[in-house]
Amino acid sequence: MAVTINGKEIAEDVVSKVKASAADLIETSGITPGIAVVIVGEDPASQVYVASKGRKARECGFHSVQYTLSEDTPEDELVALVEKLNADQLIHGILVQLPLPKHIDSGRIIQTISPDKDVDGFHFVNVGKLGTGEIETAFVPCTPAGSMLLIERILGRDLSGLNAVVIGRSNIVGKPMFNLLLAHNATVTIAHSKTKDLAALCRTADILVAAVGRPQMVKADWVKPGATVIDVGINRIPAPEKGEGKTRLVGDVDFADVSTVAGAVTPVPGGVGPMTIAMLMANTLVAAYRSVGEVPPRF
Ligand code: NAP
Repeated sequence: MAVTINGKEIAEDVVSKVKASAADLIETSGITPGIAVVIVGEDPASQVYVASKGRKARECGFHSVQYTLSEDTPEDELVALVEKLNADQLIHGILVQLPLPKHIDSGRIIQTISPDKDVDGFHFVNVGKLGTGEIETAFVPCTPAGSMLLIERILGRDLSGLNAVVIGRSNIVGKPMFNLLLAHNATVTIAHSKTKDLAALCRTADILVAAVGRPQMVKADWVKPGATVIDVGINRIPAPEKGEGKTRLVGDVDFADVSTVAGAVTPVPGGVGPMTIAMLMANTLVAAYRSVGEVPPRF
């Protein structure tokens, strides 16, 4: 049976390190890491994410502020808020919760965030740095960064000689994951909805990352024996066994099935999910260190 990678525990490790390093920074330079989270509209899932980010930031000893704007906020008003936060010396990380309402151009908002405060890693400057291997000075998007840490815990930092397959080519998960694995010397293939014979391709992978959004798509016969499998997917499916109308969360990987073949696999929930928020805290801490010219800790 595969080892279950305990993302919750590893995320707690990251958060303890963030807390300790934040306390050091406050003591040595008087700077408290600050994060601003901006939410526009009433989307219930976004409200839950934003509240948990605020809680985690306070747990880390950060200065944390939340801006809650109404659904009909004009785009220019949001741009003005981001520009104000760019200039605010108490704020080191800015996160605008996505998705934004349809009348707002998300691209314009993301590109307005100062690259030095772009703790989501979506600004072209940070995307370009990651794509050209300038990882030490980039902000890497939190979900792939967290997934990479889980892979490192199993296989170490040098993935020389290993084949990796990433299923999914989104800008927030698949593509940055590809670049991170490449930077760690893996031989990487990225797959997507137009890929032929996906199962056979996946069976070549020593490291398989699924970031698709299709419940339990990856089965045991897609997996090379002993492979490390990282399940980024979060999907809600009906759970009649829990009662009428009840649901449960599953990943893109059929966990029970794949566990019979893989060497290590992340569960959902409790795998990549907790790492995402931990890496947001890590990125904010790094932004605060960089703001005073100090070398940030490595995660
Ligand atoms: P996305 O933007 O919808 O991208 C999905 C990718 O999967 C696309 O590249 C798509 O290919 C590919 N795809 C769809 N159906 C496929 C199929 N049958 N075979 C092969 N590839 C297929 O999604 P995302 O934002 O990257 O998120 C992916 C999953 O991760 C979702 O379940 C999301 O909820 C989850 N997620 C989790 C976290 C976390 O914190 N754990 C964070 C972010 C996202 P095309 O490009 O060809 O359409």
